[in-house]
Amino acid sequence: MNVIAILKGKGKGVVTAKSGATLMQIAQDLAKLKIGAVVIVGDDGKVSGILSERDIIRVLALHGPIVLEKQVGEIMTRNVVTCSPADTLNELMQKMTDGRFRHLPVVDNGNLVGLISIGDIVKFHIAEVELEANAMRDYISH
Ligand code: AMP
Repeated sequence: MNVIAILKGKGKGVVTAKSGATLMQIAQDLAKLKIGAVVIVGDDGKVSGILSERDIIRVLALHGPIVLEKQVGEIMTRNVVTCSPADTLNELMQKMTDGRFRHLPVVDNGNLVGLISIGDIVKFHIAEVELEANAMRDYISH
């Protein structure tokens, strides 16, 4: 299974924000949409950073609630690891394990075309394992 197959199942929608948004606005988006991260894009729509709930908790613990007035651009992770549509489920798991994060923007020819979360990976991995188990059962019983 690869990223193209996962995006077919979950859709290509990605929640994005501009670097000028405040942390409070992002926190409200995360809560409202029940998601864990937003991809930060420039005026050209290209990925310029990522901000997850962990970043908000980290700066809140360090600086207190005043930090919620800061702009995302000051806090976001700029060095974003991305994946491509051809990457396999195993490659995604490896990237997340190596980088210790739970979100991977999908970039095709420099353009943001999707986002894979660790929840998507678990869901599609289970489906893949079940498919293999069923095929094995069919094979044994025939
Ligand atoms: P997460 O586990 O996704 O909530 O993110 C944990 C930390 O990794 C946060 O500081 C995020 O900004 C950062 N992060 C999340 N996804 C990525 C990514 N694809 N590339 C680089 N950093 C990331």
